[in-house]
Amino acid sequence: MDTPGDTLSSCHFVPPYLMQELARTGTLAEGYVHECLRIDTQLRDRRRGGGVRATARDTTARWVVHTADHAEELPGEPVRSEGEPESGDAAVDEAASGITATLDLFRDVFARDSFDDAGARLLLTAHYGRDYANAFWDGGHLVFGDGDGTVFTRFTRAADVIAHEFGHAVTEHTAGLVYQNQSGALNESVSDVFAACLKQQLAGADAAAGSWLIGEEIFVPGINARGLRDMENPGTAYDDPALGRDPQPAHMDDFVETVDDNGGVHINSGIPNRAFVLAARAVGGTSAGGAGRIWYAALTSGELTTVSDFRAFAAATVAAAGEHEDAVREAWAQVGVTDGTAESPAPQAPPTTQPGVVSVRRSGGIVGQVVEGSVDPTADDDRARAVRELLDRVDLRSAAETGAPQPDRYVYEIGIGEGESYTVQEVALDADTRRLMELVLDEGS
Ligand SMILES: [Zn+2]
Repeated sequence: MDTPGDTLSSCHFVPPYLMQELARTGTLAEGYVHECLRIDTQLRDRRRGGGVRATARDTTARWVVHTADHAEELPGEPVRSEGEPESGDAAVDEAASGITATLDLFRDVFARDSFDDAGARLLLTAHYGRDYANAFWDGGHLVFGDGDGTVFTRFTRAADVIAHEFGHAVTEHTAGLVYQNQSGALNESVSDVFAACLKQQLAGADAAAGSWLIGEEIFVPGINARGLRDMENPGTAYDDPALGRDPQPAHMDDFVETVDDNGGVHINSGIPNRAFVLAARAVGGTSAGGAGRIWYAALTSGELTTVSDFRAFAAATVAAAGEHEDAVREAWAQVGVTDGTAESPAPQAPPTTQPGVVSVRRSGGIVGQVVEGSVDPTADDDRARAVRELLDRVDLRSAAETGAPQPDRYVYEIGIGEGESYTVQEVALDADTRRLMELVLDEGS
């Protein structure tokens, strides 16, 4: 369809996750919402795909790695394209080998030509921001920070983190799973699945012997962490004063209802992650060539909607499993996802405001960590004065209405005094709003 119908023109003013809520509560008909989300994905594909493919015509290189040189401009300055020798910049060269291995895996095992399956050229950016302990896909770039140096080192060190971010690009261009609640946790899990497939392939390991740790290499020495996530044993990857304790559940009985992190997308992904591990072992062979092919087939089958939940995704993998149908169904049953699994209720927002105080909770990021801080804006000090000035200048209401959740980006919840609070996506931050959030968060760190 070339132009969206007039009757659906209202779609584009409502963020996808809100559409999902409206469908759930019966405010909008489900069919209408699905059509809206489909059109929205198409339009985004066209905007993004067009730009990226235009660049691809200039060269046969499948990727270009840039440096942001610690700024937050994307993509930054190009440093190295495919076919060029090592740059000597460790982060750039790690990104280069990580993306090469990832593209090869998708080509050789899944017969997929880049994230759009039409050879789109990958734009990667290393050295993003200052002390930026995160990596993300923003719809056009794979972006990697160098870490904060106290808990995290540079995120390019783990090839599986690069495959994870590429996985978000693939999901956006296939099932388009909305990055909120269960569909968001599936979006996260699928990225971890591709990450583990790559990691095991690079290690020459099959599903029986392979590692299920994601992001093993990105911690500074002395942090008590085996990885960001343990797909085999969710909830056991880390336990450290600087980081907290791995909050992932391994079974539907422990599903976490939360509004943080777009509805716990980095938390509840533990459940489908473990289902994949069990399926990969039951199917046998390599994770990529065995259960990985089944998961990829489900993702690209057209059976899923953008708001599919765990139960729907499980059904799609069972349908794609062929002779392994029973093994895949049993893997999901072991984590409590069956035909009888009840839909989880929409999470309720906890009170985020306190009288007389400006408070910020930052959640999300590929780490899925929650960081909090607060300021008494009436205090007589420089920080309080700066917060007062920024509050006068920023428009939190319009920031809260800007931008749908993006994979692995931060989510900020800011409470002002009693009763006023806003959820702001990282993509919606202007310089003043970012400064305000950072000032308020600084207290606790
Ligand atoms: Zn992610």
